[in-house]
Amino acid sequence: MIRVTAIETGKARMKTAQRIGREDRGPLGRKIDIFRDREWVEPLPILCFLVEHPEGRFLVDTGDTWRNSVPGYLPSWNPFFKQVSIRVAPEEEVGPRLAALGLDPARDLAAVVLTHFHHDHTGGLDHFPHTRVIGPRENYAVSTGIKGMMMGCLPQRWPVWLKPELVDMDGLAVGPFPASHALTTDGRVLLVPTPGHVAGHCSVVVLDDDITWFLAGDATYSQENLRVGATDGVTNDPETARATLARIREFAHTRPTVILPAHDPDGPRRLAAREVFS
Ligand SMILES: [Zn+2]
Repeated sequence: MIRVTAIETGKARMKTAQRIGREDRGPLGRKIDIFRDREWVEPLPILCFLVEHPEGRFLVDTGDTWRNSVPGYLPSWNPFFKQVSIRVAPEEEVGPRLAALGLDPARDLAAVVLTHFHHDHTGGLDHFPHTRVIGPRENYAVSTGIKGMMMGCLPQRWPVWLKPELVDMDGLAVGPFPASHALTTDGRVLLVPTPGHVAGHCSVVVLDDDITWFLAGDATYSQENLRVGATDGVTNDPETARATLARIREFAHTRPTVILPAHDPDGPRRLAAREVFS
C-alpha cells in the first residue's frame, strides 16, 4: 500500500497565454504572447506530493518560498518573472506543511525528488539540508548559470549545500515511455521522461496495487490541457511537449491512472476521490 498526499505551498498566477500557448506559434511567438497578454488566470495551487512507500517517504517537488515577496529575490533584469505572481506565506512553505502532518522535514524523508528545477519547484529546498535530493540530469544541465536564470530557474537562490543526485533515464521502458529510473527497489515509484515544458523534465509514476498515480509536475498544467493536447506558453519545444502529452494519455488509457499536475486546482479532489483519467 502506497499513500500519496497533496501539499499546497501557496498560489501562483500566470497569464492565460502561459497556461495555454497558441498551437500555431513557435517558442518565441508564445513568449511574446505572454508579454502582450493582459489576462491573468485565477490563482493556481503550487503543489508538492508526498509519496509514502514501505521503503520510505518521497517528496515530489518542494513548491515555492515566501522569499519571492522580498524585494530583490527575483532578478529584476529578467522581465519574465513579472509575468508570474507567486504568493506564499511562511507557514505555507513545504517544511511547515510537513511538520503539520507530524513529519520532521529534515529527518523523515528518504528523498526529495524534483520533476525539474523551475523556481516554483525548488523554492522549498531550504527545508532539506539533511535529505537526498534527486533530479533529472538532463534538466539540471539547462537549469544552472545564466541559461537557467533566463529559463525560469533561480540557481543563485539554491541552498549552498545543494548537490543534487543527478539521474538518467537508464531503466526499462514503461508503457509508451521509452525509459525510466526506479526510485524504489520494487520499481513501484519511478521517474519517466516527460520533456517539452522544459528539456529533461520528468514525471513520477507511482504504481499502487489497483491504481496508478501520475505526478506530472509541469508536463501539463491541468488534466484538461492534457485531454485536449494543449501545450503551455513557455515551452521551447512545442512538438516534444505535444508528443509527451500523447504519451501520458496513452499510458493513462492502459491502466487506471489519476493525473496529478503541480498546478491543477482540481488535482487534490481527484486524488481524494481516486478519479482516474478516462
Ligand atoms: Zn515549470
